[in-house]
Amino acid sequence: MSTKSGFIAIVGKPNVGKSTLLNALIGEKVAITSPKVQTTRFRITGILNDGDDQYVFIDTPGMHKPFHGLGKLMDKSASEALLDADAIMWVVDQTFKASDQIILERIQQAKLPTILVINKIDQLPKKSDIDQIIVSFLHVHDFVDIIPISALESTHLKHLKIALSKHLVQGPHYYPKDYITDQSDEARMTEIIRERILYYTEQEVPHSVAVVLESFQHFPDTNKMDIDALIIVERDSQKGILVGKNGEKLKKIGSEARKEINHIFKVKSHLSLWVKVKKNWRNDPNTVSKYGYGK
Ligand code: GDP
Ligand code: MG
Repeated sequence: MSTKSGFIAIVGKPNVGKSTLLNALIGEKVAITSPKVQTTRFRITGILNDGDDQYVFIDTPGMHKPFHGLGKLMDKSASEALLDADAIMWVVDQTFKASDQIILERIQQAKLPTILVINKIDQLPKKSDIDQIIVSFLHVHDFVDIIPISALESTHLKHLKIALSKHLVQGPHYYPKDYITDQSDEARMTEIIRERILYYTEQEVPHSVAVVLESFQHFPDTNKMDIDALIIVERDSQKGILVGKNGEKLKKIGSEARKEINHIFKVKSHLSLWVKVKKNWRNDPNTVSKYGYGK
């Protein structure tokens, strides 16, 4: 058999650019990204087919000390991704810090070939800053490769792919060739809406939001799509912030999400958004799973 495949877990602190890297490798947006920490809430699979090779990337929520029920679930899903993997990409954007210790321990337990990916080199003031980062990580772990990249500008991704290809194993592909993600269309749509919310809200609002698709219907003859989505927040004040003066913020979120959905799914969508308050939902396991997190 000439086909090869491999599961590659992407781990790292929140906000280092894991999801941006996944999208850059796949060449399409399969995971939402934002400047806010904890944007990714569950593991997202991105699939890259390259001739006879299939890479299955597992994007994880950043590993962190969890404070609430949803956070615990996010941390668990990041740790579990390591169990299935053939190799790990540890994404960092600065020198080794004490706060990297949690991830380092997980990596050492996993005993898998680990590539250190130094991201955001486009924003380093001096080339020698890369050396400092490399040196700081060299003594903490025996990495199979160390590759500096910019996920945002797609710099050095070829080198990264070559490093990754060494860890593929001979065998059948796990997904059909035209698959780029294992997420449902519904899940991707709610994530696109949540991404827009993250861009337009601050502080605790982004973390308190869940998006649920109430209904969606595609009409093939006209290529129109009707989408009704519910945005859940934890407090009345958050609802106020989200809706904005005269409903303007919600309108903006809706119109940008609609454009993005049209672009990704190549449809003409009509998107209706509602906001509902559900106190403390992140600590209620039933609600957390009802809103699509966990299994
Ligand atoms: P994650 O939490 O690790 O998944 O991080 P995201 O992929 O959501 O990215 C967090 C932020 O870093 C976003 O604002 C990205 O645009 C930004 N970012 C990601 N990669 C790069 C990069 O290579 N260079 C720069 N300058 N910014 C980046
Ligand atoms: Mg992410």
